[in-house]
Amino acid sequence: MKQVDLLYSGKAKSVYRTDDPGVYIMKFRDDITAFDGGKKDTLGGKGRYNAEVSSFFFRYLEENGIKTHYLSSVDPTAIAVRSLTMIPLEVIVRNVAAGSIVRNYPFREGEVLDPAVIVIDYKSDAHHDPMLNDDLIYALGLATPEELDQIKAMALAVNIVLSEYLAARGITLVDFKLEFGKTDGEIVVGDEISMDSMRLWDKETGASLDKDVYRFNKGDVMETYAGVAKRILSPPGEESA
Ligand code: C5P
Repeated sequence: MKQVDLLYSGKAKSVYRTDDPGVYIMKFRDDITAFDGGKKDTLGGKGRYNAEVSSFFFRYLEENGIKTHYLSSVDPTAIAVRSLTMIPLEVIVRNVAAGSIVRNYPFREGEVLDPAVIVIDYKSDAHHDPMLNDDLIYALGLATPEELDQIKAMALAVNIVLSEYLAARGITLVDFKLEFGKTDGEIVVGDEISMDSMRLWDKETGASLDKDVYRFNKGDVMETYAGVAKRILSPPGEESA
């Protein structure tokens, strides 16, 4: 499989076609952005941490029976993925109130949300990712009721698998965003699952271990990403070994 040409370049990743139409290469760049692109930087090494963590989580989800686009690791900053027709939804699962739902609704930051709350936004830079509801999703033709049910069930399954995995490593999965796509009529998890797309809090200290460190200048972003990647990739209790 050979990389051919650039298909799409987003804020932090680029997707390349390959000589196999069923396979794309997803490259994690060192770029980091926040606030709808209002804050931007390039942080050396960041792409590698996000690629490593994403690859690991995709493999772990597959081992737990959840279908993803992941095929293999190409190099430390790139993965081979199944070519998908993306569904333009940002499916956010929230276990603890933080971020936009605290700004937009009367939740207290840190309030546990049980059962988890699913929020779905329309992935559209032009419209600034507005929140959708089921009727809007059907009216816009973004998914059928059956597809939306499947997407929500998959998002909740991912939440259980990742929450337990992270809890064993002393990390609370506060919230995360998934994207889905279709291939051969099947819905699979696409995009990435990394510190850029999750909110992670240290269970003991409550410290942010994710992009909030960048968003809100809470500390050294690369030190945080390196530390949390190590915790995620190590067996429980061994991350400081
Ligand atoms: O900003 P908000 O609180 O809605 O974000 C919820 C979760 O979704 C966070 O973990 C955030 O990093 C993630 N997210 C994302 N991409 C977006 C919007 C949110 O990965 N465009």
